[in-house]
Amino acid sequence: MSSKYLRDSSYIDGKWFNSKSNRYFDVLNPATGTILSRVNDIEPTDVELAIQAAERAFPSWSKMTSKERASIMRRFYELIIENADELAAILTQEQGKPLSEAKTEIIYGASFIEWFSEEGKRLYGDIIPSPIANSKIIVEKSPVGVCAFITPWNFPSAMITRKIGAAMAAGCTCVVKPAHETPLSALALAALAEEAGVPKGVLNIVTGTDSHNIGRVLCDSETVRKVSFTGSTDVGKILYRQCAATVKKISLELGGNAPFIVFPDADLDAAVSGAIICKYRNAGQTCVCANRFYIHEDVYDKFASKLADKVRKLKVGDGLDKGVDIGPLITPDALEKVRSHINDALGQGAKLIEGGDTHDLGGSYFKPTILGNAMEGMLIAKEETFGPVAPLFKFKDIDDVLRQANNTQFGLAAYFYAKDLALINKVYNGLEYGMVAVNTPILSTEVAPFGGVKESGIGREGSKYGLDDFIELKYVLLGGLE
Ligand code: ADP
Repeated sequence: MSSKYLRDSSYIDGKWFNSKSNRYFDVLNPATGTILSRVNDIEPTDVELAIQAAERAFPSWSKMTSKERASIMRRFYELIIENADELAAILTQEQGKPLSEAKTEIIYGASFIEWFSEEGKRLYGDIIPSPIANSKIIVEKSPVGVCAFITPWNFPSAMITRKIGAAMAAGCTCVVKPAHETPLSALALAALAEEAGVPKGVLNIVTGTDSHNIGRVLCDSETVRKVSFTGSTDVGKILYRQCAATVKKISLELGGNAPFIVFPDADLDAAVSGAIICKYRNAGQTCVCANRFYIHEDVYDKFASKLADKVRKLKVGDGLDKGVDIGPLITPDALEKVRSHINDALGQGAKLIEGGDTHDLGGSYFKPTILGNAMEGMLIAKEETFGPVAPLFKFKDIDDVLRQANNTQFGLAAYFYAKDLALINKVYNGLEYGMVAVNTPILSTEVAPFGGVKESGIGREGSKYGLDDFIELKYVLLGGLE
């Protein structure tokens, strides 16, 4: 693979950094199984250098005016957009998603840098009428300090920009640990940030395979004041525990188990088209992908047959090839999880409607799958499958479907299709989720707060609320005034 934004080492204090041990790890193309690149494997102890660089950069970055920060970030945004095709090609090759989806991710990711560059200028404080004579109460917003980010492989670019956009705009400095499966998109972002004039130390990227110990260094550091993580609930819980020792601020964007409910009055064609996007994009590997489809009994058969017609037409293949809808899963392990969920469901009485097995292309390609007769006790109802499998549950009663939809420890995204306004109001009020999409399958945008309730996480990313996660309030009582 060739690109002027390909790098093979960490980026610390404005320099490309190799650990002395000189160990490298392979970055594989999941579409072909071939090695795309070999990237320097940082020693966890060297992560301290990135933290120190971020600490040194903090005073000047945080004292810069928000307008100055905004203009550097604007340039960063523009450079991402100018190079979107090149970045998308890197992303597809390390992650597997179709090129058009990769480009959508790059543009979506860039929108956070743009949005927060503008929003950073509006970090207003307050003056509160004081109940104490001759005094004034001032509330100022200040950046939390050095922040550490641990990000996943399913959105190798946007999960980074969504975090660093808010942090940088608030005046924080950053150490990012991308997933070792997909470090190239992260390093390309660092190269573009450098070109945009982001000062050294403001954005550091550490690449390595010893995620446990890298995570430890970031969590144990007294200098790091905030950890923001996107990934599995299990790892999120480990980080939450580890951050307790230094009472760090923490944001967690964890797993989901999204319900997708189709009521009898819904526009069925719209619901089917929505289901395709909501379930099969990124081969089902997003935390907001529909995981459970609840279809009212009156429209169940029709929905199932329309969905099967569309699923049959989905083209599986290398994301770089034209017309491909579904790429490979990220690793063979991911494929095994999908297979185990299907086998468990079939063993408990589910009915195979479409797909159900590995694809003839081999590797980690899996056929887009639909299961009928899904039931509450199945693994697929409880856990995030993270693959291209749509289990269909039949329901009769609104209260019962709400109970089933909420019967999970997760609470990230929920979707439903209906027309009746009173029903829509009842259902979105009843869903215990951080985000609810009605009659539409995609809800991510830089202007709205992304995040979950229950074990899906803490905090919100994007929107004016996203900045709150990176600021401290300072209350100043000015006394002795005349
Ligand atoms: P996924 O199932 O999406 O791979 P993970 O939670 O395993 O989700 O990974 C998300 C990110 O967390 C990746 O960057 C990964 O390297 C990192 N990670 C995994 N385990 C740990 C850990 N124990 N401590 C810190 N980071 C971790």
